[in-house]
Amino acid sequence: MTRLYERVALIGLGLIASSMAHGMRGRGLAGEIVGTARSPETRAIAAGDGLVDRVTETAAEAVQGADLVVLAAPVGVMGSIAEEIAPHLARGATVTDVGSVKRAVVTDVGPHIPDGVTFIPGHPLAGTEHSGPRSGFAELFENRWCLLLPDENTDPAALARLRQLWEALGSNVDLMDPDHHDLVLAVTSHTPHLIAYTMVGVADDLRRVTDSEVIKYSAAGFRDFTRIAASDPVMWRDVFLTNKDATLEILGRFTEELFALQRAIRTGDGAQLEAYFARTRAIRRGIIEAGQDTEAPDFGRGSVKR
Ligand code: NAP
Repeated sequence: MTRLYERVALIGLGLIASSMAHGMRGRGLAGEIVGTARSPETRAIAAGDGLVDRVTETAAEAVQGADLVVLAAPVGVMGSIAEEIAPHLARGATVTDVGSVKRAVVTDVGPHIPDGVTFIPGHPLAGTEHSGPRSGFAELFENRWCLLLPDENTDPAALARLRQLWEALGSNVDLMDPDHHDLVLAVTSHTPHLIAYTMVGVADDLRRVTDSEVIKYSAAGFRDFTRIAASDPVMWRDVFLTNKDATLEILGRFTEELFALQRAIRTGDGAQLEAYFARTRAIRRGIIEAGQDTEAPDFGRGSVKR
């Protein structure tokens, strides 16, 4: 494939950045890949494994001479990273990010971007519950959506090149506005994660009553919750701190629906329960038809590469 960038700097070397590194390497999309992370441990693993061509101690060093800079750390630290790298960015460079929340990133990062540098926020809708520099794999983005969030001042050539990168990594690219993104993701990802965290927390509280039966007999429903609830605590803390309004709005609606179902159970309203479950089953069918999951039992887990 065509080389799209001469030097890519990855700031943060976790699941998303390491998957990008594998994907770009395998497809020859970058001349050189430079990376950095917060801790010496992660930097040592990345250097030892040869995850990237060069590991630097600081983000400021990593971005020097890079024509693409990818912020791939938790959303809460993006602003301070942007402040650190700003004086070191090359003229003509593109800065993007992969954060799960977008309005906060636009607000925190945008003001630090100097003239002559294009900032295009992004969000690959792809992930697993694993994190760290060894969790990535080249196929993570294949047949997944990647959302890019340009504004009216975005350089069209820079946008086209970034779009090409994500498409070369296997993604389908769509453009979106930050506030709309945060609302959509509150429904499709953020609130479901909070519900999973809560359900696993409740089961943990009950463990004392049921001994180890919750673990021993864990059935598909609960197992899927535990998988989601195993996601990185720092990343998810930052998601809820930065997408506060949209998640609270969706949680409010969720609570109302839950009360309605609770009442249907109490009053023995089988017709309401059945109609509700029939409607939700159709949504699952829609996701499979859209190619975003498989028919395989266990939520297609067998088909997910680790
Ligand atoms: P991850 O595996 O937990 O890795 C995060 C990386 O960021 C680590 O290498 C960490 O370094 C580094 N980091 C933290 N603070 C830093 C700082 N101040 N300066 C430089 N590096 C720093 O996370 P991830 O899953 O790849 O997530 C990265 C971003 O992608 C997040 O914004 C997340 O919202 C977004 N995202 C995640 C998923 C998902 O499913 N996981 C999906 C889409 C988007 P250390 O290892 O040294 O701590």
